[in-house]
Amino acid sequence: MVEVMSVDTPPVAIEQVWAWLADVPDPEIPVISVVDLGIVRDVGIDDSGACVVTITPTYSGCPAMQVIAEDVEAALRARGLARVRIATQLSPAWTTDWMSAAGKAALSGYGIAPPRQQVIDISALSKGVKRHAIQQPQVDCPHCGSSHTRLTSQFGSTPCKALYQCLDCREPFDYFKCH
Ligand SMILES: [Zn+2]
Repeated sequence: MVEVMSVDTPPVAIEQVWAWLADVPDPEIPVISVVDLGIVRDVGIDDSGACVVTITPTYSGCPAMQVIAEDVEAALRARGLARVRIATQLSPAWTTDWMSAAGKAALSGYGIAPPRQQVIDISALSKGVKRHAIQQPQVDCPHCGSSHTRLTSQFGSTPCKALYQCLDCREPFDYFKCH
């Protein structure tokens, strides 16, 4: 394969690039790929022929993003793409909806409660309660499935995770909270 050694980016199918990216693990949670995590928003080829991968951080200032950008670039270079550019897109913000079903299942199997959509309680608004935005989402225990859980620390093993404890099986677990 001469193309691999080419200085220029060889013609590559966008689908192929997506498939390669599906092999790039999240640095914090290695069981989930950056694609399943939903942070790879777009793959394209720009006018100069460089492969452009657009990523959106799970939350602004996420310390893992620089590592993710480097991992993505290194993975594509290893596949023979000479010119890779990582573009960061902050808006629209990442939501847990972008995480694939396979990704959520992998998180659960890893002992991390998958993120849940935070429901904003509108009834709190009408009562003039201004603190509705920090209301905790309901988090199910990844070990026994119980919804009887409590937040023990806003920060778990990484800033992206909060520490919870199950009130039924008593197991502590991480909750992936970034959204
Ligand atoms: Zn439990």
